[in-house]
Amino acid sequence: MCSLSRVYLRAGALFAALIWVIAGAAFGQRSQPKVAGQQTTPTAIELSANLGAWFEVYQILPGVFTIREPGHWERVISYLVVGSQRALLFDTGTGIGDIRAVVSELTDLEIVVVNSHSHPDHIGGNYQFETIYGLDNATAARNAKGRSVADSQRFVLEQAFSRQPPATFSRDTYRIRPYEITHPIQDGARLDLGERTLEVWVTPGHAPDALCLVDSEHRFVLTGDTFYLGRLFVASEAGSLEQYASSAARLATLADAVDRVLPAHSATLLKPIFLERLNEAFRQVVSGKARAQEVKDGRQEYRFDRFSISVGR
Ligand SMILES: [Zn+2]
Repeated sequence: MCSLSRVYLRAGALFAALIWVIAGAAFGQRSQPKVAGQQTTPTAIELSANLGAWFEVYQILPGVFTIREPGHWERVISYLVVGSQRALLFDTGTGIGDIRAVVSELTDLEIVVVNSHSHPDHIGGNYQFETIYGLDNATAARNAKGRSVADSQRFVLEQAFSRQPPATFSRDTYRIRPYEITHPIQDGARLDLGERTLEVWVTPGHAPDALCLVDSEHRFVLTGDTFYLGRLFVASEAGSLEQYASSAARLATLADAVDRVLPAHSATLLKPIFLERLNEAFRQVVSGKARAQEVKDGRQEYRFDRFSISVGR
């Protein structure tokens, strides 16, 4: 979520890393059933006691797990998507708990990390992983440098917690640690996990490095913070509102192509009609038809059914 993410544009922070755009959506025989029909019952996964005290994990679709941190006010949801060859971790949470250990209890496969964007509640555990795909842009590069202890404190204030943090957590040393984007990706990249391929849709607006992942075969989209039920924040960078509107218009084209929308906060397994509603909402905001119903924190708040759009700086 995090509307407070600051922008420190730094030139020359581009990666010289090797470029590996994953190509070749080699669909083999499916070992996992295609997600059909409407009914799916999430299954709670029991973690070892020390991890289960902080994380909650559900299998929500075949090969798809939510990893929640309900004890932190962001209540972020990271997702693990398992293929036959490797597994993709879409966001790594706050870094307060040991998400790598959680993932190790769910799969033995190689893990690749992709971030929905680089706000702190989505990248906190990145440092624990060797393979990280990310956009080759200034925002992604800047945030990969991490944050100092002082600059990270506001994410772990006493009131941010509704549960006891893990014993391994220390407020005095907590920080968003730096990490390396090992594999630059771009819009349209196809991430082949073996018998499952996710396509990268770059969707700026909430953040300049926001992206969604589409599994067209299994008919779902991971939307990160670009869409969830609640208060949606438009980034403060110039042009973000228009970018967000364009991203929403593009996502609306998925309404008939997916059955499920999987956001990074709040409820998951949403119906794709919300993608059309998001698009319509942005059209109203951009065209001036929608009225800001409230001003909060100096931001304009446009309210719609089950979500709002917050614009400001
Ligand atoms: Zn965010």
